[in-house]
Amino acid sequence: MEVPLQYKGGLLHFEGAMAHKQNYLERMERNKQQKLASGLISERFPEVSDIIVHMTYYQTAINPVLMSRTINFWPTHHAYFNMDCMKKDCVDGGFDLTSVIHDMIKHQQKSTKGKLSCNGSVIPPASDHASIAYEITIKYNKKK
Ligand SMILES: [Zn+2]
Repeated sequence: MEVPLQYKGGLLHFEGAMAHKQNYLERMERNKQQKLASGLISERFPEVSDIIVHMTYYQTAINPVLMSRTINFWPTHHAYFNMDCMKKDCVDGGFDLTSVIHDMIKHQQKSTKGKLSCNGSVIPPASDHASIAYEITIKYNKKK
């Protein structure tokens, strides 16, 4: 995953940034645990054959469109749909598509669109530092 280079913390932010780094590592570990605990898509949602998530990342002010990417979640993947915020220093942020995807599967919905903003905290503080626009397509197994 690419990390934007625009942010260069000054000396004033140094200590805060170090604490952020520590939190970041802890968060990565926590995410890993959650991911393992979430189970496989094939186990949780046997009716699903493929989940395709297309995301466009937006970073306000400096570089509005940061990147876009498409992620395929195959049945062999973990049923974990929490995308990291692309800002490395962001704490407790990210984009959680779990409830959207669960809802879609519940209603056998094939596609949806929406937007999410990151609610994590960054240094220096910025209330609206990142957001995504997403398009989700889910393919279901044909009924036998
Ligand atoms: Zn964030």
